[in-house]
Amino acid sequence: MSAQILDGKAIAADLREQIKARVADRVAAEQRPPGLIVVLVGDNPASQVYVRNKQNACQQVGFQSELMQLPASTGQTELLALIDQLNAREDVDGILVQLPLPKQIDEDTVTERISPIKDVDGFHPYNIGRLVLRQPLLRPCTPKGVMTMLARTGIDLTGKDAVIIGQSNIVGRPMFLELLMARCTVTVCHSKTKDLADKARKADILVAAVGVPRLIQGDWIKPGAIVIDVGMNRLENGKLCGDVDTAGAAEVAAWITPVPGGVGPMTVATLLENTLLAADLASGTEN
Ligand code: NAD
Repeated sequence: MSAQILDGKAIAADLREQIKARVADRVAAEQRPPGLIVVLVGDNPASQVYVRNKQNACQQVGFQSELMQLPASTGQTELLALIDQLNAREDVDGILVQLPLPKQIDEDTVTERISPIKDVDGFHPYNIGRLVLRQPLLRPCTPKGVMTMLARTGIDLTGKDAVIIGQSNIVGRPMFLELLMARCTVTVCHSKTKDLADKARKADILVAAVGVPRLIQGDWIKPGAIVIDVGMNRLENGKLCGDVDTAGAAEVAAWITPVPGGVGPMTVATLLENTLLAADLASGTEN
């Protein structure tokens, strides 16, 4: 193996320490700690794990966090009314409604109901629009976490060829906007893309956000590339694996993220970063 590991777990731990220190500064200045409300509707087991991780991370850095669990039968009107209440609460800086939602609830309507300044997931059209215009405020957590990891390589991204595989609203598309803002030349591939392997081979930076275990093979990787594996796929044996054949890709790449322990912890740490930013913006102490 020749690639260096982009250790998301370690980078996220550093980020959490910085956030913890900033929370302590806020409290020392007699401001309240940032407050995050996580809303979970139904009993999706994967969502329960994600929500628990987010709650634990909040507690670790000294945030005030609360989990609101609603039954799977919750109606859209009821959920929207709860969001209205949370939007109005002064002690709440961030509102996160865990996706997916039960089928009777329209996710876009819910996302748009969250106040843009409390939208710590960064999914509201206002926040996506700001990213499009290169005036980012609250940025989607996974792509922003990837940018933090890329910064750790010390490699100048300017003019690099970046290829993203996957075009979802939560990963692929905002990842495109982030890399474009970093002045990469960006290609976005998806399920209808022709000659996917050839496109991947041109990437100085390859981001895989597909959801297909080990789709990306070692011989798809350009020598010296940075490979970011966003995929989190649960195999039949219960183990997690990414969208990249890590062992094969690591023979060729310069940098690679592991799964688990790569992008996942960065997503959670970036959620904390966003919540702190929302709190600082609300209290006018943003630096
Ligand atoms: P999604 O299903 O919404 O989007 C998948 C994208 O991949 C689509 O744009 C689709 O066109 C494309 N695609 C599917 N099959 C393809 C193929 N054979 N070739 C080329 N493109 C193909 O998924 P998502 O929400 O963006 O998540 C993608 C993966 O990332 C999943 O494994 C998910 O669990 C993981 N994920 C991880 C984190 C994290 O924090 N690590 C966060 C979000 C998502």
